[in-house]
Order: sequence, then C-alpha cells, then structure tokens
Amino acid sequence: MVAGLSSFLAAIFLNRAVERRVTGQIAAKLEQEARLAGDLLRSEPDFEGSADPLADRLGRDLGVRVTVIDASGLVLGDTDLDDSGLRAVENHAGRPEVADAVRSGTGRASRHSGTVAADMLYVAARIDPRDPSRGVVRLAVPLTEVREAQREILAPILTGALLSILVAAGLGWLVARNPARRLEAMSRAASAVAAGRTGARAATGGDREIALLARSLNRMADELEQRLLLLERERSQLRTVLEGMVEGVVLTDPTGRILVANEAFRRIFNAQLPVEGRLPLETARVPAMQEAIEAALGADEALTREIALGGAQEKVIQASLAAIQESGQTIGAVAVFHDVTELKRLERVRREFVANVSHELRTPLTAIKGYAETLRDGGLRDPETAAEFVQVIHRHAERLRALIEDLLDLASVEQGQARIELGPVSVRDVVTQAEAVTRADAAERRHAITVDLSADLPGVLADRDRLAQVLINLLDNAVKFTPPGGRIEVSGRRGEGRVVIAVRDNGVGIPPEDIGRIFERFYRVGRARDRRDGGTGLGLAIAKHLTQAMGGTIEVESLPGSGTTFRVTLPAA
Ligand code: ADP
Repeated sequence: MVAGLSSFLAAIFLNRAVERRVTGQIAAKLEQEARLAGDLLRSEPDFEGSADPLADRLGRDLGVRVTVIDASGLVLGDTDLDDSGLRAVENHAGRPEVADAVRSGTGRASRHSGTVAADMLYVAARIDPRDPSRGVVRLAVPLTEVREAQREILAPILTGALLSILVAAGLGWLVARNPARRLEAMSRAASAVAAGRTGARAATGGDREIALLARSLNRMADELEQRLLLLERERSQLRTVLEGMVEGVVLTDPTGRILVANEAFRRIFNAQLPVEGRLPLETARVPAMQEAIEAALGADEALTREIALGGAQEKVIQASLAAIQESGQTIGAVAVFHDVTELKRLERVRREFVANVSHELRTPLTAIKGYAETLRDGGLRDPETAAEFVQVIHRHAERLRALIEDLLDLASVEQGQARIELGPVSVRDVVTQAEAVTRADAAERRHAITVDLSADLPGVLADRDRLAQVLINLLDNAVKFTPPGGRIEVSGRRGEGRVVIAVRDNGVGIPPEDIGRIFERFYRVGRARDRRDGGTGLGLAIAKHLTQAMGGTIEVESLPGSGTTFRVTLPAA
C-alpha cells in the first residue's frame, strides 16, 4: 500500500518534470529555428515588403506558425493570415515573447492564442541578433504537441505505479495470512484486553482454525468486559449504600489495617484522612476502638462494645464487630459503629421522668394517707382538728389533680395529640384573658401588672386557648417568683412577619447554671423553694411544647435578683 502510494506521488512529480523538460526541448528547437528564419529573412533584399509570403513559406517548411513583426510591433507577415487578416491583427509589441526578443534577443511564452484559437507555445528572436530595429520573427506550435509528447513518456510510469500498488497489496495480504503474524496480533489483542483496554479485539478473517481461535478470544473478551461492568456496578452500589448509612462502617485486613471506611465512620471518630491503609488508632485517637477491632480479629463470635468518646461533647458509640472468615482463616474484620448518645440521653430522661413522677405523686399521697389515718384513728373526735386535717387532705388532693392534669396535658402535646386549631387570634384578647386569671393571686401579693401592646400590633396565628394557657403559665410563674409588691409587665411588639409577646418581672431571677434546664419536665430551681410555691415543675415544659406546636419559639433571659423575661414569638396572622 505504502509502496503504491509513493509510486503514485512519484508519478505526479515526474509528470511536472516531464512537462517542463519537453516544453524546454521544444522551445530550444524553436529558438534555433527562429534564428535560422531570422538569417533567412535578412538574406532577402526587401524582406519587409515580402514578409507575408516569406512567412507562409517558412511556416510550410518548418511545420510551425511563423509571424514576422517589425520593431514597432506591426505584424508584417503570418503563416495563418492573409492580407486582410494582417491588416486586422492588432499590434504585437505588447506580447511578452516579442517584447523580450526586442529587449534581449530572444523570448518565449505559452498562452491561448485568439488568432488561431488554441493553446500555443511562442518563441521569438530578433531578425538581426545585433540590431533590434530590424524586427522580430516569431515561431509558434500548439501546446497539444507538447502534451502528446508528455503523455507518451508518462503512460509507462503510471502503469508502473499501478502495478506496484497491486503488488504491495498482494504482499500485505500474504503477510496478513501468515499464521505466525496472526497469532502475534492475537496475543497483542489478548494483552490489551487483560490490561483493561475496552474494545480491544482480534481480527477474525483468514484461516479457519485461526479465525475460530480469534472468535473465541473475542467472545472471552466480551464476557470479561461484561463481568467487569457488573462488578463495577456492584461496587458503586455498595459504596452508595455505605456512604448513605448513619452508622460508621469499617472493614480491615487480618492485621487490622483499614481497607474501607465510610463517611459516617470518619465523622463519628473525627478521623484523619486518609483512613485507608492505616490502623484505626492512627486515624483516630480512640484506643478503645482499636482494642475492639483487635478483639474482633481474634474472636470466633461477633461481639459488641460500648465506646465512650470524651471531648467537647461526650458521645457514646455502640460497636458491633465480627471477624471475616474464609476457609477457616481470618481474612479481616468488619465493624459497625452506632452513635447512641441521643438514645442514651432519652433513656436517662425517661428514667428520671418516671422517678420524678413517682416522687411527685408519692408526696401528696403520703400526706393524704397520713392525715386520713389520723382522722380514722380518733382524729374525727376533735371537730376542729378534723376540719383542719380535711382541709390539708383537700389541698394535697388538689395538688395531685393539678399534677395529673399537667402530666396528661404534656403527654398529649408531646405526642402531637393535643388538638391545636390555628387561626388569627387577637393578642389583646388573650393577654386580657390571662391577666384576668392571675389577677387575684397578683393582688394578694400586691403586684402591679401592666399591659403594653403597640398600637399597630397585628394578630397572631395561634390556638387561642393554648396561647392563653402559655401566657397564664408565664404570668403565674412571674407572680410566684417575685417578692410581694413586685412589677410585672406584659408587652407585645411586631417583628419581621412575627409578633413577640414578653412577660417581664422584677423577681428573684434564675441562676445561670439552671437557666438551660428550666424547660425540662419537673426541673425546678431549688426544689424546696419552689414546691412551697405549689409548682409542679411542668408549667414551662408545657408552655414550650405548646408554643412549638403552634409554630413559635419561647426563650428566657434572667438576672438573679433583678428579674426574668420570657419571650414568646409567633407568626403574625
Ligand atoms: P413550676 O410549676 O415549678 O413553676 P415551671 O416549669 O413553670 O414549674 O418552672 C420551672 C422553674 O423555673 C421554676 O420552678 C422556677 O424555679 C423557675 N422559674 C420559672 N419562671 C420563673 C420566674 N419568672 N422567675 C424566677 N424563676 C422562674
């Protein structure tokens, strides 16, 4: 193929060279003849007068077209023109070959001739080589002659090129059929497939046996690619699952070095990257985790551990670990880490809650039981004491009822069962309602309650009764935790699409160490102090849950000794 192509290119170049050479030869011959014609013309006594017959004769003798032109470019005679033609022909001084001959002795050019309507090669020479004023004789032959000569030379060359193309193609085919070469090519294809270059295949033409082998090789390559694809897909699925898990997962080799770890693992243990290829202890300073993995590698059964993480926020991690066995050999370990901090906290809260409820219920019950027994065992005989005891029993029963009501309230709000019907509510109406409820207690303690609502205050989106309950709880606390003669203020201000209702007192305030916990159930600052005031420790927990259920927030700000402000923020209606 290459050989053929180069022959073809050579032919093209040769064609050019041949053309130049042939033209040059013919032109040289014409130049000689032009000089001879010049000599002949000069030997005629009056060649200017008989230029045309002379040109005719010379043309006939030489087999070319002869033109005789004087120094001014006037055509005196021409083989192809008669008298009338001569008179009509234009001045030839501008023809390049004529101008060159006048200037330097000879000139040549090839172009299309209008006079004879053909491509011509022109050669001109001075009639007297030493005297340009005697004019110029010009010979012309059609270029078709040049082309013919060229074709004669070129034909065998082109045939040669064609033949060499055929021979090269034939040789190539023979080489390709060579079994050794085919096997070599096949082995190259196999290596390419093995190296993972997709799409690499062996050629399947030629000998039957070899073609069969090539086809099996290709089929094998197809299957291999298919399996690799499947494997890659499974891997990426596994990776997606691992990365999507909240549990940290880690896979190690038999020496305990990490092979795979997911994002949750890195997050839980705040592991340093890269994780892969390192021991757990090298990525995260948690000796207990390292120890657990080592234990798993040496154990026959799965094991669980609880790992406590110190640091800024303490965490409790539950780890489930197991060795991976393959034909009786441990080839690694897999560990799953679950952050159970929140679970533990909830468990603790629940335990505390049960303890608190039991305690809170037991106190009034013990009192009721005690007073009832005293009455039964003779107390009734003294009507005055009896009346007092019944009063005490009634107070404790009332407290029990309040407690149970609060508990039920809280439970229903927490479980989302409380029927909360949101609608536009006038802040003034609710504040007035809550103030009316606490007015008697406030008056008893000589507190001054003021209400300050801005004039442009919009309504809020809330459940009217629930909002009243929240405000009553806050006002009730303000009344309770402010020494007699205090000042309590309820204000309402509009914010960005919201309304802020604040209840401020100048009472005892809440110590900073307690302020974070007062919204917890049963949490009271100084238990003895507050129980005396008749609180259950549930009021703020209920207020918080109700506010949140209405899409609002509640916050507190307090300075012990100076007073406390609670702010309830709700969406404007
Ligand atoms: P209680 O039923 O005991 O009032 P709450 O849940 O309403 O329970 O309040 C929790 C605790 O927060 C109270 O025991 C009290 O110590 C503190 N507290 C609440 N409101 C105020 C306030 N306005 N001034 C001072 N302390 C308060």
